[in-house]
Amino acid sequence: MEKTFSVISLGCKVNTYECEAVCQQMEELGYIRVSSEESPDAVIVFTCAVTNEAARKSRQMIRRARKLCPHGIVAAAGCYSQIDPEEAGDADVVIGTRHKSDLAKYILAAEKSKQIRNVEVPSQEVFEPLTLYRFKERTRAFLKIEDGCNQFCSYCVIPHVRGRERSMAPDQVMEEMKKISRFHKEVVLTGIHTGRYGREYGITLADLIERILKEVPDLARLRLSSIEITEIDDHFLNLLEASPKIARHLHIPLQSGSDEILKRMRRPYTTAEYLARVEEIRARINDISVSCDLIVGFPGESDAHFEETLRFLRACRFSFLHVFPFSARAGTPAAEMEDQVRAEVKKQRAKICLNLSEELYDRYMESLLGKEAEVLVEKSEDGFSFGRCSEYAEVRIPGVFEKGTLVKAVPVAVENHMLAAKG
Ligand code: SF4
Repeated sequence: MEKTFSVISLGCKVNTYECEAVCQQMEELGYIRVSSEESPDAVIVFTCAVTNEAARKSRQMIRRARKLCPHGIVAAAGCYSQIDPEEAGDADVVIGTRHKSDLAKYILAAEKSKQIRNVEVPSQEVFEPLTLYRFKERTRAFLKIEDGCNQFCSYCVIPHVRGRERSMAPDQVMEEMKKISRFHKEVVLTGIHTGRYGREYGITLADLIERILKEVPDLARLRLSSIEITEIDDHFLNLLEASPKIARHLHIPLQSGSDEILKRMRRPYTTAEYLARVEEIRARINDISVSCDLIVGFPGESDAHFEETLRFLRACRFSFLHVFPFSARAGTPAAEMEDQVRAEVKKQRAKICLNLSEELYDRYMESLLGKEAEVLVEKSEDGFSFGRCSEYAEVRIPGVFEKGTLVKAVPVAVENHMLAAKG
């Protein structure tokens, strides 16, 4: 009797990648992937700990997994089960942010001897290779090339749960890219701190990208999930300028538009440095889309700091914003800070920024009108196809095109926060 499994993945692109890689391992062991509603024999929950809300959801999903699979195997993995393995009590298999390449084997073993726990952190941290060559349910593929972080921003738990920076070996990146680009036109390089790729190999992210462009000709588009402003070096900008294969979109975490708050966050730049680099990027790459992450309601953020941030967001002419109300994470310096901002004030500031993000997105899309775009088709319905262009803007094209293909189109209008292309 074939055994079945389903997955629940919370959090970031790294979690999505790791979750997909574990699914591939499970299928290689003979399990069939089904939806959670089909009474699977095993359920895997990839947890997240980046905010209190994410931690609450992780606990909730583990309980839900047990309900979906009362007599089968429930496995919990990831950042939250690394921090609080006891809270994953309902699970038979609990691992943290390491040992994911063994997860499928643990699930198989748990069928015989229930209760497998391994949140141990190896003394010698090496990059744990997971291989994955096809995302069954996604058009653009991810490749995790880096793990861990050494920066210790004052609000962040990630360095505490994912450990120190480490990278996938460059040769293995080439191997993975060649496999993935057989099935996917676009690949997103991702990591916890992607811009710090390659230090232990004496190379930079730009060196790696240069090699990918040379050695993986099948790849049509390469995208970065995010990159810190301090890690956008001239080598990278030269490559971006020279190669249209590199997506014309950079997601560059900002977190605050106030220097005083950036200092409290332990972010390694000032607003002046950030803006200067963004303007340099814009001067060199026309129409590039620049978006950012933003935390509102950080401890000590006054109305004046927030006004400063709003002015700075407009000055940067972002194409959109990812907005996060500050969430005090136990074990981080920011959680102990005085002047915690009231929840309703955080909510209000988040709402103002989300409205601004919509306004900025529409304005940015207007700047793309009349310019030919190359759209990666993600779906088709009612005689139209939908996907994202190199600048990561959503585009609607008349006609039905195959999912996963790149289609050239000229946007002529902005409708419902989307570019409408002519037929
Ligand atoms: S750079 Fe800062 S925010 Fe990003 S993972 Fe590292 S500590 Fe967290």
